[in-house]
Amino acid sequence: MAISHPRLLKWFASRNPFFVFLKIMPLIISFVWIVFNSEIRNLYGLHFFLLGIFAWSFFEYITHRWLYHTIFNNKKLKWFLDAFHIHHHNNLTDYRVLNAGLFLIYPLAIFLWLILFLFTSNTEMASWFCMGMLAYYFFYENIHYFIHYKIYTTGYMKFIQKYHLYHHYNKWNKNFGNTITFWDKLLGTYDPEYKQFKITKEIEKELINH
Ligand SMILES: [Zn+2]
Ligand SMILES: [Zn+2]
Repeated sequence: MAISHPRLLKWFASRNPFFVFLKIMPLIISFVWIVFNSEIRNLYGLHFFLLGIFAWSFFEYITHRWLYHTIFNNKKLKWFLDAFHIHHHNNLTDYRVLNAGLFLIYPLAIFLWLILFLFTSNTEMASWFCMGMLAYYFFYENIHYFIHYKIYTTGYMKFIQKYHLYHHYNKWNKNFGNTITFWDKLLGTYDPEYKQFKITKEIEKELINH
């Protein structure tokens, strides 16, 4: 299934992590501005920043497992979701859909900022939380892009590439985490067989096509 509507790509996808960075800049500037203009009330900013990182790692898991890989009865919703993630599964070298667009992180960051503000009345803490989430979100987008961009032979990138490609090539219902294995292990979708996954010459040719 190809994506034919450029407006869909414009709002829901990004060409590469650089464009992701440009898109999230206004959010980052806003949160930094709020923090710098707040009275220093306490030193818990870092805790909320780390909590934001943790929150995105969970959000990354739940969207992949329960949104992108769920078969919805609503035809329009199904078509829309399939046009991105399932299309990605079936067309690994379509770089247009490797990264998300404005309509993933903006509603989430603004919604969570408002919720935190409502519960704590603290704009500084809500902003630290969202900055942590944005930082890890940007990391996630880079990881997903570069996993599909070149072959890695050592370190974290080798491990996470095998982990993600096993999800693509072997089991679509396992290993949903894109940056960590924690949520898969906790929620019963971790498959250690990924360690045996071999990137053959055919896979390499299919994967790296740019
Ligand atoms: Zn992928
Ligand atoms: Zn998937």
